[in-house]
Amino acid sequence: MLNIVLFGPPGAGKGTQSEKLIDRYQLVHLSTGDIFRANIRGETELGKLAKSYMDKGELVPDKVTIGMLKSEVTKHPEAKGFIFDGFPRTTAQAEALDEFLKSMGSEIAMMLALEVPEEELKKRLKLRAETSGRTDDADPEVINKRIAVYQRETAPVADYYRSQNKYKGVDGTGTIDEISQRLYRAIDT
Ligand code: AMP
Repeated sequence: MLNIVLFGPPGAGKGTQSEKLIDRYQLVHLSTGDIFRANIRGETELGKLAKSYMDKGELVPDKVTIGMLKSEVTKHPEAKGFIFDGFPRTTAQAEALDEFLKSMGSEIAMMLALEVPEEELKKRLKLRAETSGRTDDADPEVINKRIAVYQRETAPVADYYRSQNKYKGVDGTGTIDEISQRLYRAIDT
């Protein structure tokens, strides 16, 4: 299996680049943010709970997120591998993912980290807010909160994969195609 963690701050382009990677490598795309938003649209209990955190720019609790992720992975027994997008976002999630994949006889191959300067991120999120319909993109305070949460809780996850020699930083600036080409090179080498 080829399991990849696609990592980066809000606005780094994880969603856009995931689409490219699943096409090229025939992987299953699991975006915890997308799954939460689908639950919000479906008005499920999970959606209601997730929304109360998402609207504030906070993380949904680990226990809920990890449980949901595991159940999504088990829905794809035929998968050649997964792109994990927006997960893991805490070290506890990374540890749980390792343990879970190990129980399936698998593991994370690499973390691909999209590196984008903060000013550029804010510009992209502002643009995305005009089209995404995402309430958490519309409010600058919520955006700032998400970036702060990223720095405090999520950035350390990179060290977790660095310590396993699985971290690959990729320049996340330039055109969509330029960034994809860099990701392909990082995967193929
Ligand atoms: P995203 O679409 O990845 O930007 O995620 C949107 C929001 O969903 C985040 O700001 C969090 O509130 C929540 N979320 C998504 N993934 C996770 C995760 N792995 N752990 C906790 N909360 C998450």
